[in-house]
Amino acid sequence: MLRIREICALSPAAFLLAVGCHSRLAAPATPEPATPAPNPERETVPADRQQEELPALPPTVIVTPQEIFEGTAFLLHVRPAPESAPVIAVDGMAAERTLAFVASADGRMWTVAPAPLDAREVDVQLTIRYPGGAERTETLRVPILPREFSSEILTVPERFTNPPPEARPRIESEHALVAETVRRVTSEALWREAFARPREDRSSSRFGTRRMFNGELQSRHLGYDIAGRIGDPVRASNSGRVALARDLYFSGNTVYLDHGLGLYTAYMHMSEALVQEGDWVDRGQVVGRVGATGRVTGAHLHWSVSFQGIPLDPETLLSLGAPPPTSAAPPAGARP
Ligand SMILES: [Zn+2]
Repeated sequence: MLRIREICALSPAAFLLAVGCHSRLAAPATPEPATPAPNPERETVPADRQQEELPALPPTVIVTPQEIFEGTAFLLHVRPAPESAPVIAVDGMAAERTLAFVASADGRMWTVAPAPLDAREVDVQLTIRYPGGAERTETLRVPILPREFSSEILTVPERFTNPPPEARPRIESEHALVAETVRRVTSEALWREAFARPREDRSSSRFGTRRMFNGELQSRHLGYDIAGRIGDPVRASNSGRVALARDLYFSGNTVYLDHGLGLYTAYMHMSEALVQEGDWVDRGQVVGRVGATGRVTGAHLHWSVSFQGIPLDPETLLSLGAPPPTSAAPPAGARP
């Protein structure tokens, strides 16, 4: 069966290299589900409150959206109880990743957290700090809902799935570089508006699609492919700083944007990148042009999202909405 489309013909290993995550597999073809819709806020009261005397009433931990699906990002808000001491900092862990909380203008602390593919729950550990050195710890278990993903069978030239031995040193060093880049956590949120699509065009392959290459290999597609012609503009999904702008073996001309708190978006297979590492970019700024560089079967944009190396569905990032208004000044280097 021959079925070549404009997709990323990366081997399973290549996808792991590109985003530094795990992948696993196989199920019969299923219809594509609708993108999960945003939901109103839900308040979760941690179950294991400490009983000892505390300097403040227990805070409320709010998880949004109300229903959280695998492969998506969610927001955590810590809101001090009315008339209690203010919360001055929150440290946290979720899915073995460090959470970086920031203050919003209304006195709550908030951050982004990941719901990895295949996860059915995520344990969140929080240490909430008050003036004078007092602190309390809270844990909560966030249930994660399953999604259904489609499947596709692909036949591609051998060189896409089996890179030549002489390419291995380059592939390995690029793997390490990308993995190290996306594990860096900038401790402030560099974005102020909702995330947007980098291009308005049809999608040729969605996140999470199960793939069989040449009748044997299986993988998950860990990005979102958007159609385009060579030279069409690719826009930054949100404001941030350019963490990586390189020509990589599998993903071609690639730009990674750091949006802060561990959240990164990436734009791959471009004919050219129009930004440099360290540059500040505004939401909607053209960062490159559609191309067919790297290991691909045709021109398209592969758009991906990483939370500290955990791949998330770019489409679902769009429904997170704008972050809470911040109490801090604009990020250093941001244009007014
Ligand atoms: Zn792709």
